[in-house]
Amino acid sequence: MTASHRLIAHLRAAAAAVLLATGPASAAGVDEARIRAADTEPGNWLAHGRTYSEQRYSPLDQIDDKNVGRLGLAWSIDLGTNRGVEATPIVVDGILYASGPWSVVWAVDGRSGEVLWTYDPEVPRQWGRNACCDVVNRGVAVWKGRVYVGTIDGRLVALDAATGEPEWQVRTIDPKKPYTITGAPRVAKGMVIIGNGGAELGVRGYVTAYDAETGEQRWRFYTVPGNPAEPFEDAAMARAATTWHGRWWEVGGGGGTVWDAIVYDPELDLLYLGVGNGSPWSRQTRSPGGGDNLYLSSIVALRPDNGDMVWWYQTTPGDTWDYTATQPIILADLEIEGRQRKVLMQAPKNGFFYVLDRATGELISAEAFAQVTWAAGVDPITGRPIEIPAARYNEARAIVYPSPFGAHSWHPMSFNPETGLVYIPAQDIPGAYNLEPGGFSYDPRKWNLGTDTLVTMTAIPREAVAGHLLAWDPVAQKEAWRVDHGGAWNGGTLTTAGNLVFQGVAKGGRFAAYAADSGKELWSFPAQTGIVAGPVTWALDDVQYVTVMAGWGGVFGLIGGDAAASAGVRHVGRMLTFKLDGTAELPALAALPAIPEPPALPEGVGEVALKEGQDLYHTNCVMCHGAGVVGGGVLKDIRHSEAEVFEVYREILLDGLYVERGMPAFDDLLTAEQVEKIRAFVISKAIEDHAFRNRQ
Ligand code: CA
Repeated sequence: MTASHRLIAHLRAAAAAVLLATGPASAAGVDEARIRAADTEPGNWLAHGRTYSEQRYSPLDQIDDKNVGRLGLAWSIDLGTNRGVEATPIVVDGILYASGPWSVVWAVDGRSGEVLWTYDPEVPRQWGRNACCDVVNRGVAVWKGRVYVGTIDGRLVALDAATGEPEWQVRTIDPKKPYTITGAPRVAKGMVIIGNGGAELGVRGYVTAYDAETGEQRWRFYTVPGNPAEPFEDAAMARAATTWHGRWWEVGGGGGTVWDAIVYDPELDLLYLGVGNGSPWSRQTRSPGGGDNLYLSSIVALRPDNGDMVWWYQTTPGDTWDYTATQPIILADLEIEGRQRKVLMQAPKNGFFYVLDRATGELISAEAFAQVTWAAGVDPITGRPIEIPAARYNEARAIVYPSPFGAHSWHPMSFNPETGLVYIPAQDIPGAYNLEPGGFSYDPRKWNLGTDTLVTMTAIPREAVAGHLLAWDPVAQKEAWRVDHGGAWNGGTLTTAGNLVFQGVAKGGRFAAYAADSGKELWSFPAQTGIVAGPVTWALDDVQYVTVMAGWGGVFGLIGGDAAASAGVRHVGRMLTFKLDGTAELPALAALPAIPEPPALPEGVGEVALKEGQDLYHTNCVMCHGAGVVGGGVLKDIRHSEAEVFEVYREILLDGLYVERGMPAFDDLLTAEQVEKIRAFVISKAIEDHAFRNRQ
């Protein structure tokens, strides 16, 4: 640190101290009573979905459907990254706390947009190999003067909200297993509750509650059973084990990770978890002989004091399509058939919109909100899907709606009690599945799906990918309106008392506002990037602001997506804040980098070696560098590497030359000969792309 840097850091700390001293109550005052009463202070966004109900509805109405056309940029911060940005900021008395790629946390002065502090947990970059879906983070929690973040390498860290200095950290995972944390912690009853991900590589899912003061573990709830020869952790696991067959604990751990939705209900004193897909994906591989495989793809209610299960509802029994039920959960009171019902709503990957009685887990209703071809509906008596038998693939390929990207993924949906509508970032993408050719063998160093990844990643034409903003009536269980976005993987939504819905639109890199009652587009801002995160709104000194973490990324962007850098779009990670008559401007768009001439195909490389290279690429590289080596704009399109990069493939892949840039080493998986084949395949695609461009 230079002297001037030290001076700036000192001044920033002093400014932060002044803000904290003069702020009304600040982060130190955020406790359960204050979050329970969040509606009495609509200028703040105290919890992940603003209130414990996670409706992402704000009563603020200074910005409304009549004046939103005047919305302009108040300030922006360049995050210095183009990896996936998925976080929902927490806002306490004008200070914003947000997280980003590699679990970095920022505290920002909402008045000026000045960064007060940054915390970097310094995750070893090699760990990025365990991240199925980009090194993202969906947000922090704030509670009694601390900021909590889960890191991509499985730690839970408590920071001093005033300084960003760590106060304690706990390792929530076994570091020998490929777990990751991308979800936001939730705080309730003096505990921080955190889940994890990793079911694509192979883990056993669980959620842990830690004492918010000390980090001491209070309880842990597993979502799927372990080896039945060992004692079950609780009655829920004993019951679940009767629905599994084979030796699932040896072929990936069963899965069922809780990587996003964890919602506390202070009215009923329940904690709802959204549970993920099976590991491996294919049930035939995971649980030969079938079975529902509890509690995969389920919504589970626990007693928050001890983690005991109260009820469960399984959305996809015997999941075999990566149909997670981890998607955001919204709590509401709705009048249904003349009765006031305390409901829980979820639009999981499988394409059905569920309304459950959240006291009992009883299904009230479920209807398809997207294209669904794996089931004909949900039986209202049994609560089970009416499966289409042909959707359960085997050696023969099945094309099924939705895909593993889901009819809706983690992108937050919102509920406006005034319109009675839920605003879903919905999409229609078909999935292609067949069993892994040549049989399955579990290898914890790579993805373990039990399916043919080459088919899963490449068999779907880009023209088949569609996405839209869907306004859904949860009482009538039908669509109210939709806005076609011309592509998938659009942003999370925010709705307000100003009759507005805010959402990022991937195609063209826009941030837009729509009338909540009609869907009419009222305003749009050229954000220079795809936006996937959920926006928030807050107020300070009688001015209402809208903030969104802007940036493309996540699994769809990595695997290729359909919003690669193009005219007007560069995928720069930024925090953007808007207000009425804001006049700030984004930096000018950087020029698109020139595309170098591809190198010549190495001598003597034939069809057989190229095919081997293609298979190796689609087993080991596709998850980050894209199907068919077409980048999605998050990471550099490696077809367009400089000639000297093609010269050092061995050093990159085997010696870890670019580890610090986020490119892990694969020396434990690949030989030098295999690296050569991958290199030849990538060069062949670069040559193909070059020829295609020359024809244009
Ligand atoms: Ca998954």
